[in-house]
Amino acid sequence: MLHALLHLFFPELCSGCKKILSPSEALLCLRCRHEIPFTRHEHLPQNEAFTKFYGRVEVESVQCMLSYQKEGIVKNCIHRLKYQGKQEIGTLFGLWFCADAKRLEQLSGIDYIIPVPLHPKKLKKRGYNQVTTFANTISQKTGIKVAENILFRNYNTSTQTKKNLFSRSQLKSELFEAIDNPEYYDCHLLIVDDVLTTGATLENCIRALHKLRNCRISVACMAFSQS
Ligand SMILES: [Zn+2]
Repeated sequence: MLHALLHLFFPELCSGCKKILSPSEALLCLRCRHEIPFTRHEHLPQNEAFTKFYGRVEVESVQCMLSYQKEGIVKNCIHRLKYQGKQEIGTLFGLWFCADAKRLEQLSGIDYIIPVPLHPKKLKKRGYNQVTTFANTISQKTGIKVAENILFRNYNTSTQTKKNLFSRSQLKSELFEAIDNPEYYDCHLLIVDDVLTTGATLENCIRALHKLRNCRISVACMAFSQS
């Protein structure tokens, strides 16, 4: 009864198309759930996300679940997740990720999941890391532990775009730092992030983590953007 009343006065909107959801729908309407674009990266080890890292850093496998377009369902969902506190979207995406046997197959042998960290200032401002629920859900479904105290961001990227190219490349190595902890030596680590675009952020994470002795690194993202 209360739920029905709340729905009447504060109708929940679809995170994909902003249409009012019916009481039986949650987060996404049926149409958006049907139309959301999957990349199928899990079927192609040398996929477009994997090849982004060619000649840059060594990586075992890369898979992004959804296709991120300039407009559309995925973009709207990520926006709500990132800027409007809808962390349930990360949980939903994590459940989808683990619902596919082929995607799970690529996670076999992974020792730890590492969400891309936010700069502490940004974390304080936003109140949460948008990758946390995605990472935690994959962890719960697979039993692979999340390692949150290994990778740190030590520079706020919000000022990065204002710098010229020279200083930006100088800042690159300062972006992420891995703690030298023997617990993570000889491990296969899975870095998780929201959208893979240029790969610059992930490249810096991978570079930092490669300082851990004999570790292998794979990447899983919610979405892949062509641009
Ligand atoms: Zn919708």
